[in-house]
Parts: sequence; structure tokens; C-alpha cells
Amino acid sequence: MIDLQEARRRVLSRCVPGRPRAVPLEEALGCVTSVAVSADEAVPPFANTAVDGFAVRAADVAAASTAAPVILRVVGTIAAGSAPEPPVGPGEAVRILTGAPVPEGADAVVMVEDTDAWDGRSGRQAVGRTEASTVAVRRGVPGGTSIRPAGEDVAAGQVVFPPGTVLGPGHLGVLASVGMRRVPVYPRVRVGVLSTGDELVDGGGPLGPGQIRDSNRRTLLALVAQANAEPVDLGLAGDDEAAITSVIAGGAGRCDAILTSGGVSVGDFDYVKVVLDRLSEGTMEWMQVAIKPAKPLAFGTVDGTPVFGLPGNPVSSMVSFECFARPALLQMMGHPRIDRMEVTAVADEPLRRRPDGKLHLVRVRVDWADDDGRFHVRSSGGQASNLLRSMALANALALLPDGDGVEQGGEVRVRLLSWPG
Ligand code: AMP
Ligand code: MG
Repeated sequence: MIDLQEARRRVLSRCVPGRPRAVPLEEALGCVTSVAVSADEAVPPFANTAVDGFAVRAADVAAASTAAPVILRVVGTIAAGSAPEPPVGPGEAVRILTGAPVPEGADAVVMVEDTDAWDGRSGRQAVGRTEASTVAVRRGVPGGTSIRPAGEDVAAGQVVFPPGTVLGPGHLGVLASVGMRRVPVYPRVRVGVLSTGDELVDGGGPLGPGQIRDSNRRTLLALVAQANAEPVDLGLAGDDEAAITSVIAGGAGRCDAILTSGGVSVGDFDYVKVVLDRLSEGTMEWMQVAIKPAKPLAFGTVDGTPVFGLPGNPVSSMVSFECFARPALLQMMGHPRIDRMEVTAVADEPLRRRPDGKLHLVRVRVDWADDDGRFHVRSSGGQASNLLRSMALANALALLPDGDGVEQGGEVRVRLLSWPG
């Protein structure tokens, strides 16, 4: 057996980032920038008001107070989306609405709450109405008040994001705000998923003797999608050398990576490792990794395409994906961090195991407790490698090193798979 770190190192050393390219923003969510991204435009593009109110000359209203308001002549209105007209002269104000450009002459905006505006014809208060002809300013403001300067968020020519930035919704918004349509990233990798096994059937319909339904393909395709890669369904193959050969050889041509499940143990009908050995030109490693579940892993490259021969048991295939395929796919997509978050948690029940020289990855539910400010875990169910439901119910894997496990109240390291789910 080899330890997890060594197995991971062997896999990761053969999974290199793809060739970067500029993709449209609508396809870039979750992708990683390959170079520094600079803005051609400033944001905001012009000085504008942060509030609804009156654009004024700060010097005009410096002495304003409730007891002695300053009366200004209202010479116009500027709404968001309008040109910054008219200019503001001495003794004048322009009614202005949030986001509207600040007109020439004005160097501050007084909030509408600090003013009384009057409708010149009826003499009634006209707050928020366009017909105001004078405004009484009850509070003096220093120059620059409530004005958002041009380029405050992004200056033209500025680097907005360094290389290696994982693009989230906010990043895409910033790129849109500077008028970018495309962004240079490592593209999503296309990942083929194949299930193998004579016992497997696809979808519904009655089960024949000895048959079970294929669940791994559904799971692995979803794990690929969740890693922000592009899943490609390569279907089902029986325990048949020729069939497996044709799917893997064909898949290598149109995918950037391939995941298979089943057929990598020591059984007589475990053909994936046989086929991979033949197709991988000596690169295949058939590893016995010191972890439980997911001990066997066949890994090699076919025409440069990494092929992961994951074990067939449903939980093993998921855990193997977590330990090897996910970090490898993230590395191929340029991610600076390829590991899940790990935290220390308190075991709310004993998590027992027997010494066997392996690292146990135990399916648990982790929760945060406000009263002691710590994470707590409990087993999510049976830990045999065929029990998929306890994997579905888990939101973390507890990492139990070789030994007897952890007593109730003891500390355990957990790798978060999803939060809060
Ligand atoms: P294998 O690794 O091929 O020896 O398979 C180990 C166990 O996992 C066997 O009980 C298989 O029936 C089961 N298994 C293999 N592939 C799948 C699959 N795609 N869906 C559900 N169970 C599977
Ligand atoms: Mg099998």
C-alpha cells in the first residue's frame, strides 16, 4: 500500500492545466483567470451623486443651519441617465437623483432630507417633485460630500484581478462594469464518465437476475459538474475488454479526462485495469492506497488524457473522486487551491475503527454549535463502501488516522464536502 499523499502526488504530476483562452462572461463563472485582467474603462465612468438631493457649490451653503437656512434658486433637474445639465452657478442648485452625473460648477450634493424645496407656483412643499423653484438648505456640507468620483472603484488601465482568480458572480459584475465581453481563463475540462460491470442496467424497467442499476455514472457526472468541469456521458460497458477499450480509446480523443468506475480490483473480470494498462503506454499505475474506503485506483494517461479507474463500490467511487479526480480536475482548470476546507470538530459520539494501517474517511454530518463556538460531528450512517445513502447524507468526511478512532468529546479533523447541506 502507498499513502494518500504519495498516490495524490503521482496523479497530480500528470494533470496539467489546459491552454488558456478568452471565454464570454456568461461561460466564465467558476473559471480561473490565466493572466492579470486590466480594465480599459473607469468605474464609475463619471462623477455622480450617491444620494437624492441638490447639487450645490459647497461655499454657498457653508453657513447653512436649521435656524438660518440658505435659499438657492433651483435651475434644473438631472435624473440618472441624463446629461450633467444645466451647470450650477453661484446661488443656484440643481435637483439631482442617485446615480446622476454631477453638473459643472457643483462640488457637493446636499441630501434631500436636509432641505425644504418649494413649489414656486403654489408655495407648497415640493420635496421629490420637479417643479420646485427654490430650495432651503438647512445644513452646510464640505466640498465632495455625497459625490462618487470617477474611477473610485476601478481606474482605467488598472489591474482588476491577478492571474489565478476564481471568477465568482461579483468578479463577473466587475468585468461587465468595465465593458469586457470575454475574459482569459483556463477552460473547463471535458470529463468522460463510464460505468463498467456486467451486472449494471441503465434507468428503469424490471431487473433481471443478479442485475443492479447503475448509480455511479449519475453520481460521477454530477461530481464533475459540481467541480465546474463539463461532464460527458460515455455510457455503460460490460465486463468486456473490447467494449471497454473502444470507449476509453474513443473517449480519450474527445475528452480532457476520463473517469471509469468498477473493474480495478483483483477479480477475474476486472478489465478496466487490463485495458488501461494496454492503452496507457506504460504510464498506468495500479495503486493500493492506504485509505478506506477506495483502496484500489488505476491511473494512467491515454494519448495524454488522464484516465482515472475508480473502484466500483458507490461510496468508494465518490471518495476516490474526492481524493484524486477532483483535485486533479481543479489543477487542470488552473485553480490555485485544489483542496477542500478542513476544520477541527468535536465528536458527539464515538467514531470507532480498527487499526489496519489505513486512513479512514468516515461519512459524517458536521454542524456548527453556537454555544461553544465549535464544529460537531456525528456519523451519517453505516460505513460499508456499498452504503451510498450515508454518503448522500454526509456533508463531510472525518479523517481518522490509523488507530482505534475517537471517543465521544474527542477532536477529529474533518474535510467539508458541502455546507450547510
Ligand atoms: P467492482 O469494482 O467492479 O468489483 O465493483 C464493486 C462493487 O460495486 C460491486 O458490488 C458492483 O456491483 C458495484 N458497482 C460497480 N459499478 C457500479 C455502478 N456503476 N453502480 C452501482 N454499483 C456498482
Ligand atoms: Mg465489476
